[in-house]
Amino acid sequence: MPNKSMTKLEPYFEKRDRLRHLLGVISFDVETTAPEKSIEKENDLLNFYSAELAEISQDKEFIRLVKAAKEEGGLNDAEALLIDDLLFDISYMEKLPIEKFMEWNLAMSKCTEVWKKAKNASDWSMVEPYFKKLVEIKREESELLRLPFHKTKYDAFLSQYEKGQTQEDVDRVFEPLKKFLIENLPEVLKRQSKLEMPPLLPHDKDSQAHLSIDLLKAIDYDLTRGVLRETEHPFSDSIARDDCRVTTHYYEDDWRSSMYSVIHEGGHAIQFQCWPDYQFENHVNGRASAALCETHSRFYENLLGRSKAFAPVLLDLCKKNLGGEFESMSVDGFYNLVNQVTRSLVRTEADEYTYCLHIILRYELERDLINGKLEVEDLPSAWNKKYKEYLGIDVPDDAHGILQDVHWYGGGFGYFPSYALGNLYGTQILAKMKKEIDVDSLLEKGDTKPIKEWLAKNDFAYDYLNPNDWIKKVVGQEMDPSYFIEYLREKFLK
Ligand SMILES: [Zn+2]
Repeated sequence: MPNKSMTKLEPYFEKRDRLRHLLGVISFDVETTAPEKSIEKENDLLNFYSAELAEISQDKEFIRLVKAAKEEGGLNDAEALLIDDLLFDISYMEKLPIEKFMEWNLAMSKCTEVWKKAKNASDWSMVEPYFKKLVEIKREESELLRLPFHKTKYDAFLSQYEKGQTQEDVDRVFEPLKKFLIENLPEVLKRQSKLEMPPLLPHDKDSQAHLSIDLLKAIDYDLTRGVLRETEHPFSDSIARDDCRVTTHYYEDDWRSSMYSVIHEGGHAIQFQCWPDYQFENHVNGRASAALCETHSRFYENLLGRSKAFAPVLLDLCKKNLGGEFESMSVDGFYNLVNQVTRSLVRTEADEYTYCLHIILRYELERDLINGKLEVEDLPSAWNKKYKEYLGIDVPDDAHGILQDVHWYGGGFGYFPSYALGNLYGTQILAKMKKEIDVDSLLEKGDTKPIKEWLAKNDFAYDYLNPNDWIKKVVGQEMDPSYFIEYLREKFLK
């Protein structure tokens, strides 16, 4: 017997899907091609249809049916997750008075607005009072988000992005990783200084744009169900079933930046393009957690895109599209150039080895801040101290330090760990994949289709599950940092 309330909910779900599709198309247009003078009206459309979307979840009949669906039972696994998500959101809104909701939203957008100015002026003191208010709000909000298995205030935010996970889970995997990364960084840098490193020469935007299309084809991104455009910050968007778009940004003085943005965003979009019917029919497409999405973008960017096996293929594409120094560049030289490790200040420019240190220190700071073990006024000095301790560098100013990322100033606590967890999951999945298919020889031939097909069948098909359940389904065991540590040891220390 099908669940009767689910049948009655179907038109609501379909309307949500249509509105999200529409909003996706309009926001992509605003970000990429809308004429300057049309943007105000397009933003007006976004507000109008976002409000319509929000109204569905406040609809009394909709809420009644969601509660009834849970009571009726007989849901399949995807429906059960969807209903639990909706019940969580409903209970949050029921606990939160509307005046408070408005006040909190206002405080968050004000803080983001002031952060932009503070970052431009490189002056933390400008945003400090607004941020202090925001942290107070978040500590209060954590009580509304609290679930029975949460032990700390921070757990409430973490499990918003990584459902079912706690700071205990994250500490368990970050601690050994951090120790390894800090201890071995000097040795990695010493080895790097002895490597053949070709010069990094400028290349114009047009040739890089042609290269981008070839890169997307090389990773088997379906260009009949997606497009590539240019934006200030690269992103990808699963707008609809057959419409998963990517963007990049070209820097003429560093072709590597766009090359790996294209492969990263392409990796995200490949995951979206491979979602099976089951997820769409049950409206759980897009339920994959932040870490599960980062797993696949990083899988393509680093595990495939920065591998020795794929380097000859990428070098050939550079020869074809960029010419110049690539004509005489060796495969080893190319490989070294795209795997350069440096002590850097800015997270988004960090290399594969040091990236997790940038994340771990942010995680430790936000965890302690939300849990009340660290106060806002001590945050900048704690930030600078950790950069010195973990990465061995002095932070010269706030713009390149505590003000560099928008996340905290928009209230996005609990998101940072997802970036690093993606690296951990990816190497675990690669190890499993290598037992079943010959990944390296496929990469050498430039044949990435079987890799995509393996991921679609064994991994993407289950990515609507909560992270702990998904990783067990894909690799048969829980999240284990030793795979990533071994991968880094093999790559940078041998
Ligand atoms: Zn990403």
